[in-house]
Amino acid sequence: MHELGITQNIVAIVTEHAGGKKVRRIVLEIGKLSAIMPDAVQFCFDICTQDTVLAGAILEIREISGLAQCQQCGAEIVLDKPFGICKCGSVQLNLITGEELKIKEIEIEEICV
Ligand SMILES: [Zn+2]
Repeated sequence: MHELGITQNIVAIVTEHAGGKKVRRIVLEIGKLSAIMPDAVQFCFDICTQDTVLAGAILEIREISGLAQCQQCGAEIVLDKPFGICKCGSVQLNLITGEELKIKEIEIEEICV
């Protein structure tokens, strides 16, 4: 399960960013073609964040659809796999979106003095 390593990385980045403050919410973007299972990330997140500043934080995962452009005719094609075929018959596709793994937002708890 490579999601564990990915989640540990995310937790490390967010922890550093938070600088000791408590993290309330994280928004992750995961492309549908990235072969990362959102459910597995969610599961690993709950385990990885125990006893960290991320404990109890909400993990929001946004799935990004795969989109490619045909090199032959320029048409845009929605993909659910990292390959496909255009209506014109070409399999020469440039992936535009769908492979990303991005931390989109980090919400840190404001400490009122
Ligand atoms: Zn085409």
